[in-house]
Amino acid sequence: MNVLVVEDEAPFADALARGLDAEGFRATVVRDGAAALYETAERPFDLIVLDLMLPHVNGFKVVAELRSRGDWTPVLVLTAKQGEFDQTEALDSGADDFLSKPFSFPVLVARLRALARRHRNDATLLEAGDLVLDVRAHRCTRDGLDIELTTREFTLLEALIRRKGGVVSKQVLLDEVWDFAFDGDANIVEVYVGYLRRKIDRPFGRRSLETVRGAGYRLRTDGA
Ligand code: CA
Repeated sequence: MNVLVVEDEAPFADALARGLDAEGFRATVVRDGAAALYETAERPFDLIVLDLMLPHVNGFKVVAELRSRGDWTPVLVLTAKQGEFDQTEALDSGADDFLSKPFSFPVLVARLRALARRHRNDATLLEAGDLVLDVRAHRCTRDGLDIELTTREFTLLEALIRRKGGVVSKQVLLDEVWDFAFDGDANIVEVYVGYLRRKIDRPFGRRSLETVRGAGYRLRTDGA
């Protein structure tokens, strides 16, 4: 799981990242709120560990901005000391969980795993601009209009929308949408991407499902 660590105290941030890597996460460290907003717009993360006291853009503003973009990546906020912010305030900001420094590292790891689990179970509505997938109801809409998708098309779109904004390789899609044992022609992905475009893009005059040459496909986050 990719974790973005947003913390301006370098030694602490680096120790945190090393600890998370040792626990099987892949941690990326940024030092301030603006960098956090930039990184999260560039690629999706599974979790964000966010210090509240940051230079320039503080943690509250980072969470508010993420949520206003429709980014519901689980956020665990860290506060400098007990009582500096109350828990209600941290959670009201749109964060999902909260820990006061100093905290025990195993507790942080346990909370992160729990957050990721909860998020996976909750995420029935996936959105990219006005394109919405209701995973539980198996329903796809764009601009409020229903789009009929086959099961395979739906699964492919789900794989793309879960990584919206990021490039997803053909191989990842093959593994996820077809299955690991698929040994047919990898061009099947291109064929299905074409089917999807005919349903989710063309009728709406959009180009949201992009081909990134030599790399894979990307679903734009802005619904363009
Ligand atoms: Ca700080």
